[in-house]
Amino acid sequence: MAAQFDAAVVGGGVYGCVLALHLRRAGRSVVLFEQANALASRASFANQARVHNGYHYPRSFLTALRSRVNYPRFLAEYADCIAAAVPMHYAIARRGSSVSADQFVRFCARIGAELWPADDSIEQQLDRDMVEAVFAVRESVFDAERLAARLTRDLAHAGVEVRLGTRVEAVERLAEASDPVELRVRAGDAVERSRARVVLGCTYARTNQLLVGSGLPPLPLKHELAELVLLRPPEPLCAFGLTVMCGPFFSLLPFPPRRAHTLSHVRYTPHHEWVEPAQRVADPYLRLQRGTPPSRAVQMLQDARRYLPAIAGSEVVGSLFEIKTVLPESEVDDSRPILLRRSPELPQLITVMGSKIDNVYDLLEPLDALLAN
Ligand SMILES: Cc1cc2nc3c(=O)[nH]c(=O)nc-3n(C[C@H](O)[C@H](O)[C@H](O)COP(=O)(O)OP(=O)(O)OC[C@H]3O[C@@H](n4cnc5c(N)ncnc54)[C@H](O)[C@@H]3O)c2cc1C
Repeated sequence: MAAQFDAAVVGGGVYGCVLALHLRRAGRSVVLFEQANALASRASFANQARVHNGYHYPRSFLTALRSRVNYPRFLAEYADCIAAAVPMHYAIARRGSSVSADQFVRFCARIGAELWPADDSIEQQLDRDMVEAVFAVRESVFDAERLAARLTRDLAHAGVEVRLGTRVEAVERLAEASDPVELRVRAGDAVERSRARVVLGCTYARTNQLLVGSGLPPLPLKHELAELVLLRPPEPLCAFGLTVMCGPFFSLLPFPPRRAHTLSHVRYTPHHEWVEPAQRVADPYLRLQRGTPPSRAVQMLQDARRYLPAIAGSEVVGSLFEIKTVLPESEVDDSRPILLRRSPELPQLITVMGSKIDNVYDLLEPLDALLAN
């Protein structure tokens, strides 16, 4: 007889872990399946680690406002996973930016996000022919390794059954529409069965693989094979974060697990893009398993040095490649909407997809409301 749970969570990234904890704390028995051998080891690890506080979204007021609400909550709940205070900055490019410095200041005032003049020592690092203004801001980076360790401990402590190295291939209906559903779970060469009254699909880049494997139609999603260059910047830049706004520019942010910074560039970070369902691939992760494309570190550095000359003295120590997945709405205004969707054909399966770490909080109340119906 297959083990039965109130809830099964598929995918142990930050979303799956936080939602599994939420369901468990509400008194449900919860099992979490993660195909990797560690939690939060995919997009929840290989990202820029920015805890957004609104500044990044002048083109999407709602996303900016939600970031302002979620930022203090994330900082308070995961204080032990936040990197020691790093001075963070936003610079406005003089040419090619879709916001001017004045507009950025007005936008920050509207969302209540504080700005300060950057220190002279920072100003001096920037080429003022290229940069109209630079501001110090209140924003943070998290340590993805500490966050994974913390979530692992929290799940164990809460009594969530965590099954690493298990891939859910399908969620299948039993005889009656209102019955629990059965999960077909691959663990190495073996196939196991588990049952749950509700299943949360938190598989991010593999959202459609779970749906299609379960005989359901895929959702419209856009994927990018993204590269973040890992580098050690020279002394004046090493305890410092900078984002150049708002267009085809770059961000340089600390990445604590590797004692390095990530360099990302709007033009060079995405190596390859595709949309589902039109260009469906069997498994987006296979694109990375087959090998990564040649690094674009040189192109990123060549462009970034035009704004921040000292970055040319950085030591490149590697790259993180990961699949970034967004909802098509994000393309219109750079917003970061979230997906919370009950499958009409199989109501026990709820698909969740978030677009940044902190907006997992935006899901908790709507999820409770959905489960109450
Ligand atoms: C390059 C890049 C930069 C980013 N920068 C930021 C940033 O600075 N700040 C920010 O807040 N957000 C950022 N993001 C977005 C953020 O990383 C994601 O929104 C977040 O990690 C999504 O979490 P998740 O748990 O949904 O996905 P993931 O962490 O990818 O978790 C999904 C998990 O599901 C597992 N899985 C998949 N299919 C199955 C299956 N069938 N059975 C079992 N397990 C399965 C996977 O192994 C994986 O562990 C960035 C993303 C990328 C890629």
